[in-house]
Amino acid sequence: MEVRLARKRGFCFGVEDAIETAERTLREHEPGRVVALGPVIHNPQVVDRLEQAGLNQSGDLERIQPGTTVLIRSHGAGPDTYAEAARKELNIVDATCVLVKRAQTVVRQLHEEGYTVVMIGDANHPEVRGVIGYAPNVIVVDSEDKLDDVLPIRGKLGIVAQTTHAPEHVAHMIGEIARRPFRELRVINTLCLEVVRRQEAAVELAGEVDVMFVLGGHHSANTQELARLCCEAGVPTYHLETWAEFKPDMVRGKRIAGVTAGASTPDFTIDEFVEKLKSLVPEER
Ligand code: SF4
Repeated sequence: MEVRLARKRGFCFGVEDAIETAERTLREHEPGRVVALGPVIHNPQVVDRLEQAGLNQSGDLERIQPGTTVLIRSHGAGPDTYAEAARKELNIVDATCVLVKRAQTVVRQLHEEGYTVVMIGDANHPEVRGVIGYAPNVIVVDSEDKLDDVLPIRGKLGIVAQTTHAPEHVAHMIGEIARRPFRELRVINTLCLEVVRRQEAAVELAGEVDVMFVLGGHHSANTQELARLCCEAGVPTYHLETWAEFKPDMVRGKRIAGVTAGASTPDFTIDEFVEKLKSLVPEER
């Protein structure tokens, strides 16, 4: 079987920086003295490797002993987390991606300038949960049918989006918001171009192949978005974490397979998958 790779795929600079920060922090501390507040990135294989190198993980600041070094993950955290960590005398190492930091700053500034802040994003995603802490009463919305329930009836709105969202979805939501009678809409583009480029490359490749494989953590929002876009492009698409999830039926009757990967998917996962797909598939068809 022919295997084609998306021209943009895998690790982004934000994820590379977060892993590098975690590894450096581990080297500088005694084993067991560094705790990440949740998975450093949304990729279980990378997180496992960091845990094997001595990184502990906790979602609960209360349980962490004073003097411990806590690592803020790439998705960032709200100001309450920083305040609580300082109160508990924890040492903070911040691995928040610079683009997530920017979204946090933008939200605070919009609020200070008198806007009601609206974030287009998934309310359960850790990035969104952190970003909305930088202004009071941020409205989080991700589908047009909720707009009438959550938006105020007048005033001026400042709009941002979860960094990993697709521009088409965000543009659609802004269009729907613009149908309402707000005297001012200020949109600050907080989308991540690394994600946008991976989305463009995935859709382009989906148009050339019989089946698409999107590799990445099942909880990774940008990987889920890649898979959704490939599906929408009309090609059978499988979102897999690693080769272990591959089944020969996925390629039965297919001639060309496309492979892409989310921004938190390491090269070792992509390389192993491509190599095995190339070598095993002919016997399985
Ligand atoms: S996908 Fe973009 S926003 Fe997210 S960590 Fe990577 S560079 Fe940062």
